[in-house]
Amino acid sequence: MTYIEPAPIKDKENPLESMMQRFDKAVELLGISEEMYYILKVPARQVTVGLPITMDDGRIKVFEGHRVIHSNILGPAKGGIRFDPAVNIDEVRALAAWMTWKCAVVDIPYGGAKGGIACNPREMSAGEMERLMRAYTVAMLDVFGPDRDIPAPDMGTGPREMAWLMDEYSKAKGMTVNAVVTGKPLVLGGSLGRTEATGRGVMVSAMAGMDKLKINPYKATAAIQGFGNVGSYAAVLLHERGVKVVAISDISGAYYNENGIDIEGAIKYRDLNRGTLENFPGAEKITNEQLLTLDVDVLVPAAKEDVITHDNASFIQAKMIVEGANGPTSASADDIINEKGILVVPDILANAGGVTVSYFEWVQNRMGYKWNLDRINRRSDRIMKDSFDKVFLTSQQFNVPMRIAAYIVAIKKVADTYKFRGGY
Ligand code: NAD
Repeated sequence: MTYIEPAPIKDKENPLESMMQRFDKAVELLGISEEMYYILKVPARQVTVGLPITMDDGRIKVFEGHRVIHSNILGPAKGGIRFDPAVNIDEVRALAAWMTWKCAVVDIPYGGAKGGIACNPREMSAGEMERLMRAYTVAMLDVFGPDRDIPAPDMGTGPREMAWLMDEYSKAKGMTVNAVVTGKPLVLGGSLGRTEATGRGVMVSAMAGMDKLKINPYKATAAIQGFGNVGSYAAVLLHERGVKVVAISDISGAYYNENGIDIEGAIKYRDLNRGTLENFPGAEKITNEQLLTLDVDVLVPAAKEDVITHDNASFIQAKMIVEGANGPTSASADDIINEKGILVVPDILANAGGVTVSYFEWVQNRMGYKWNLDRINRRSDRIMKDSFDKVFLTSQQFNVPMRIAAYIVAIKKVADTYKFRGGY
């Protein structure tokens, strides 16, 4: 029988393309030269490795892992490691470029990178995860380094995986190198405040956005997609500031209560229920798709990319979208959302709280010193608020949405730095 190559899936937009469309628009507005365009566009380094791992049943399974350094113009590259079945090189490249812009937008001295392994952590034992993480670290020994490329957690990974990475890297170097990775457990040199940092930055962005839109947080409602690291901390912190979180969700579905979800209760339920909200009581079960179109003040997509597209953008009723996830809105949805007058705090700004506190963690590791939580929160809140204000001002100066303004701020910084550093 003749083999027929399946057609590409047409309705799934490529996140790299979406990022590039916004990048192109900002570059055009800045009047960047063609040479500079290619310097900013092409990743500095891409590495793909095959990782044969012995599974618990004795079989050997080969996983594909990637690491992309998009840019190291501003400093060592920085970016998370994602464990997810959908990981592919296009996605990793897009996420690496996002990291370059994200670090530049919040003005920290890092370039951008990202890594990922196509695997399903939900179906793997702790032992299998550990072997996979250690094998990946060894395969990336000449990529990672505290002055070269500093990984961190992303979807499907956390402090446990970062500890394995730090240990494996340190063994290879013959000394403890805790600054090679951030998002580590506290006892290994992790920073106070890192776990909740991305959700906290989402909260600061949402509060700053509400202030601009003259929305009283005590009268505001929010819907949050994704109840993992980013979504659940954003929910707790928004709730603490008076915002009524009426819907939360995870991969099992969405949960709605017009009187407000009991957030602390939901976290306890999730933690006792193998990490999922499945059958969460005290709320009506709706779909993730319905959550996105609820009539709320603040919508926080904090799960995955490409959830707001040209198909559902016209049904969005929120007054503002604060992008906790990377790339939750496809480029084709931008115009529809802008026409509706919805304020979008874009991913490269809204979720930069994590990389900001990662940077603090690296600084502390290199100083051999620890800051207290109050100092970390004050400094990261100030960076997030100042960055929000800078992007908001740029959006007014160029008369563009905040997303394009954020790219303008970031691209200008990287391009200006390159001009001073020069090339061959
Ligand atoms: P996580 O693995 O802790 O949580 C992800 C959550 O999303 C889980 O509740 C999961 O059930 C849910 N989810 C997964 N697929 C879904 C789907 N199809 N529909 C609805 N819900 C779904 O991950 P995280 O660290 O919270 O990351 C979430 C997003 O935020 C990602 O896009 C990540 O790149 C981005 N991000 C994370 C950080 C960080 O510090 N963790 C920093 C910046 C950006």
